[in-house]
Amino acid sequence: MRRIGGHVSMAGSLLNSVTNTLKIGGNCMQIFAGSPRLWFRKPFPEDQVQGFIKETKKENISPIFIHALYLVNLASQKEDILTKSIDSLVMDMQNGARINSAGVIVHIGSHMGTGFESVKDQLVAVIERVLASTKNCDLILENDAGQNGKIGSPEEISFLIKKIANPRVKMCLDSAHLFESGVDIRDAKQLKNFLQTLDNLKLTDKLVCLHLNDSATKLGSHKDMHANIGEGEIGLEGLKNLINHPSLSSLPLILEVPGDNRSGCDAKNISLVRSLLS
Ligand SMILES: [Zn+2]
Ligand SMILES: [Zn+2]
Repeated sequence: MRRIGGHVSMAGSLLNSVTNTLKIGGNCMQIFAGSPRLWFRKPFPEDQVQGFIKETKKENISPIFIHALYLVNLASQKEDILTKSIDSLVMDMQNGARINSAGVIVHIGSHMGTGFESVKDQLVAVIERVLASTKNCDLILENDAGQNGKIGSPEEISFLIKKIANPRVKMCLDSAHLFESGVDIRDAKQLKNFLQTLDNLKLTDKLVCLHLNDSATKLGSHKDMHANIGEGEIGLEGLKNLINHPSLSSLPLILEVPGDNRSGCDAKNISLVRSLLS
């Protein structure tokens, strides 16, 4: 059965993420290992870790992804931001290893307009440092929407993965970001060309997760705003083509959609995606 789940809350206890996943009919999941907008991170309590491993095994929920803080900027030129970015990422990965997470998904950051060239050596060094400080948890780089200064084009991710040459560095593809960056996945030919580009960049084998979101902004908007499945600019047909494409059809799908009351991914979105599977 295809793995489909949502970004769910673990507020209160790590175990609540399991309950929240079952409530929406998911069989995989993504969580923040703490508040997404606060730097503060701490190790998961051991009793919750044990309970989580037991429950996810029992309910057959897998894979489990952790999404890093939105504040992380691995390209920052400010020492305090960079230190906090590295420390929080290391903590997320250590927590990830303890719960058998398939990896920590991170938005690489922003060069603030100075260009990728000017920060690429720093990025390689920083990611190598994060990997050296952790084990048993992968680091998953996510594509961006092409916002000004943001890092995360397939070319940039390919450069980093190749240069770092560590099998623990993987890639996550977000459908909304891709569309917002200018790739019209509604068009079979454009989708095919894009997947060929991924292949040429040796990224196809690195993909471990598909963030499946519709986009509230237009094609090539370079503005990231997620919409519920089928309620955005991509639409059902485009998302259907994407998830059923042979080179992506075995990837787990994680929905990061607003839901009906902006309360996050719900059962309606998940069952709609299930109905799109061919
Ligand atoms: Zn995403
Ligand atoms: Zn996004």
